[in-house]
Amino acid sequence: APGLYIVATPIGNLGDLSPRAAAILAAADVIAVEDSRVTAGLLRHIGVKRPMTPYHDHNAEHVRPGLVARMGSEVVALVSDAGTPLISDPGYKLVRDARAAGHMVTTIPGPCAAVSALTLAGLPTDRFFFLGFLPAKAKARGDSIAEVAGVRATLVLYESGQRLAALLAALAQGLGTREAAVTREITKKFEECVTGTLDGLARHYAEAPPPKGEIVVVVGPPGEAPPASEADTDAALAEALTRLP
Ligand code: SAM
Repeated sequence: APGLYIVATPIGNLGDLSPRAAAILAAADVIAVEDSRVTAGLLRHIGVKRPMTPYHDHNAEHVRPGLVARMGSEVVALVSDAGTPLISDPGYKLVRDARAAGHMVTTIPGPCAAVSALTLAGLPTDRFFFLGFLPAKAKARGDSIAEVAGVRATLVLYESGQRLAALLAALAQGLGTREAAVTREITKKFEECVTGTLDGLARHYAEAPPPKGEIVVVVGPPGEAPPASEADTDAALAEALTRLP
């Protein structure tokens, strides 16, 4: 049926493209894409060739009306480079305008880095607060962290490897002692999940070279850090002693 189809695509492992997502992409009259090279690779993987049109932050205002008009009689699919469209990716205005114009809007759910990271972190998942990318500048980033310091929920953040150490340091400073996890390259060959306190992780990544690949940081809610074990206390004491002059 004509309308707008929001199609989630893999975040690394092409095997995660759902059969329904593949069927919609194969049937689409046009696929709105972030980067046609990335989506071309996905289409090649499923042996499909469909027309693509760029839809990204820089041209969205300009191309949106044309796309919405086509939804009256054609199957329009929206994908992003990886994961679920609209989640730290363009698309919400396309959905809003499609619905306002009376077109059918539906979703083909699938991979999302934020939700996948929550499943790996081992931190409470009953309430979580998605922050996406914080501002890159230190002052704005600190302000955003201060804003959420009182939120009683697990926090989920996207970040690049280059900025990870600075983000962890700012989180440790702004949020105090909390359990956290750094998840990286989810569904890919070098998938990993490093857990610890914000402080410990900040120190660890300050000393290591910036990690390669894609990263999601998960921070546990306030006031739920388990009491330090005797071994932790001993280690902290020993470490503190090494710093004494
Ligand atoms: N819409 C996507 C989704 O559903 O997750 C997110 C798009 S956002 C522009 C890209 C960010 O998502 C990356 O910088 C990284 O923080 C995170 N990300 C995407 N794929 C990932 C993966 N395989 N492992 C870890 N993080 C990932």
